[in-house]
Amino acid sequence: MTTAAQILKTKFGYESFRFNQEEIIQTIMQKRDAFVLMPTGGGKSLCYQIPALLFDGLTIVISPLIALMKDQVDALRLNGISAAYMNSSLDSGEISDIYEQLNRSEIKLLYVSPERLLGNNQQFLVFLRSLKISLFAIDEAHCISSWGHDFRPEYRMLSSLKKEFPTVPMIALTATADHLTQDDILNKLKLKNPNVFTSSFNRPNIHYSIEPKRKMYENVLEYLKEHRGDSGIIYVLSRKSAEKMADKLKKAGFLVKPYHAGLSADKRQKHQDLFIKDQVKIMVATIAFGMGINKSNVRFVIHADLPKNIESYYQETGRAGRDGLKSEAILYYSGGDVIKLKRFAMVENNPEQSRVMLHKLSQMATLCEANACRRRAILNYFGEDAPENCGSCDVCLTAREKFDGTVIAQKALSAVVRLENRFGLTYVVDFLRGSKSERISDSHKNLKTYGIGKDISKEDWFHYFKDLISFNYLKQIGSEYPVLSLTEKSKDVLLGKEKVYFVKSKEKKESTLSELPYEKELFLKLKLARIDVAQKENVPAYLIFSDATLLELATYLPQLLEDVRKISGFGDIKLAKYGKIFLKEVVEYCAQKKLTSKINEKIYKR
Ligand code: ADP
Ligand code: ZN
Repeated sequence: MTTAAQILKTKFGYESFRFNQEEIIQTIMQKRDAFVLMPTGGGKSLCYQIPALLFDGLTIVISPLIALMKDQVDALRLNGISAAYMNSSLDSGEISDIYEQLNRSEIKLLYVSPERLLGNNQQFLVFLRSLKISLFAIDEAHCISSWGHDFRPEYRMLSSLKKEFPTVPMIALTATADHLTQDDILNKLKLKNPNVFTSSFNRPNIHYSIEPKRKMYENVLEYLKEHRGDSGIIYVLSRKSAEKMADKLKKAGFLVKPYHAGLSADKRQKHQDLFIKDQVKIMVATIAFGMGINKSNVRFVIHADLPKNIESYYQETGRAGRDGLKSEAILYYSGGDVIKLKRFAMVENNPEQSRVMLHKLSQMATLCEANACRRRAILNYFGEDAPENCGSCDVCLTAREKFDGTVIAQKALSAVVRLENRFGLTYVVDFLRGSKSERISDSHKNLKTYGIGKDISKEDWFHYFKDLISFNYLKQIGSEYPVLSLTEKSKDVLLGKEKVYFVKSKEKKESTLSELPYEKELFLKLKLARIDVAQKENVPAYLIFSDATLLELATYLPQLLEDVRKISGFGDIKLAKYGKIFLKEVVEYCAQKKLTSKINEKIYKR
């Protein structure tokens, strides 16, 4: 008998289950209903796809968006799994093909829209009764709830499904957090004694930062230049600013398109397709964009304007990093935006709703202004506990760079004392560093303090002195040649009565996708190879392999086909179809650079 773990490896190419995938699959295999709450990118799809392959009959997946259905079906087919979708985009010929395949039991997973499943006097449902249905999966289940942010009236029809098929297990999946919506989903779908699985909403691979909105465009431009070739979304508030920003970035040489409600449906679709196919790297969008984007390699989400509440912020930033690789969420904050959004929050003739929206807006503003861990603030908002310091948001990273610099401060202050408050910054620093320069007088070279700060670079000393001045432990007197002089507060430091904390100067860390060293040049070559394959197969590149798979290849450098099998993402079919193409790139690269395989260092992570 085939097991879930075997399917995970042979069909999907993955080593181990994530979060509670395994327990969820077991629940379904026992024909029990399940409710699954997992953040974006957590791996919800496998929770019903693996049971679908283990069960005899057909699994019906209900999904709200045509684009998502196609994406999922393409992904399954690339792994050699027979799947199909049925929605309004198909013509009658294609539909009767699917009917025939269903009659011959050739399809394991069928994706349908709710109106296709239950509309039209339930004609389709009547047909389904003639087949063996083993599972219903309701994806994006929050769409059934009018409490949710994405209510779809068509989803209401799903309430009757349980009555029609009381013995078929049902799994409902969503990434929407709030409790009101959750309870509503369970009620509306009439799940029977469901096993409820909830995972943390933390997205550990997303780094959050919130910066003051000054010289925003220049900052964005600099970021984009450093991350050329990465895909990302820039959210703005208005159509006008979307057009303007896209235009400027285009002139600056980026592959970029705008996306907003002012564009025709055709144009929006076209821009979205280009983005999904990696032919456009940056989308400048209003919030109209994003729902239904399954693109896994979105590396950054920038908010050029303030989101209207924390739900939106979480959801929009959550579009980054579905592949689990490091990604960035950057928000530019200004009090001016709060004032602007306040006007939008006023709902005419509805003081109650206005109040709620204003409150949510002020919570968003507080998150931006507070000097507390961003991740924790988000998780607490959704009712989840979190450690005080996450280690990967702007606040935690700067906080961690703070250190007790009392000894450094004492050295600096004693130098100023020894030099009798008569010398300027550069002289004091040279003196501390024991400079041999003739500028330093011989009498000073004989002082005990001379050279006690040799171990610290000139640049760092300048930083420390700037801080000491701004903390008021030192002052500068005179305008043309200012000299350093002690203050009232200096004494306590010199006497050891007061500690001084410095914030380490922010080093520019090279942002890297992975903890492990990998071959950057090879990674780029693999991406090109992936585009080639994707064009031949006519699917988006990320469906061929995720960035995570290419990154593993560029890290572990497999030299044999059987080692490529150990790379996450290579199931049997993809190994057979594409293994050689990617292996060739790796082998050639390694030969050229005289590198050997590191496949034995691969540790299987859970
Ligand atoms: P969700 O629907 O929850 O947003 P997906 O089902 O699209 O997430 O999964 C996100 C990504 O993680 C996909 O590329 C998927 O193939 C991958 N993935 C899912 N489960 C695993 C696993 N156990 N090991 C490795 N990768 C996984
Ligand atoms: Zn943090």
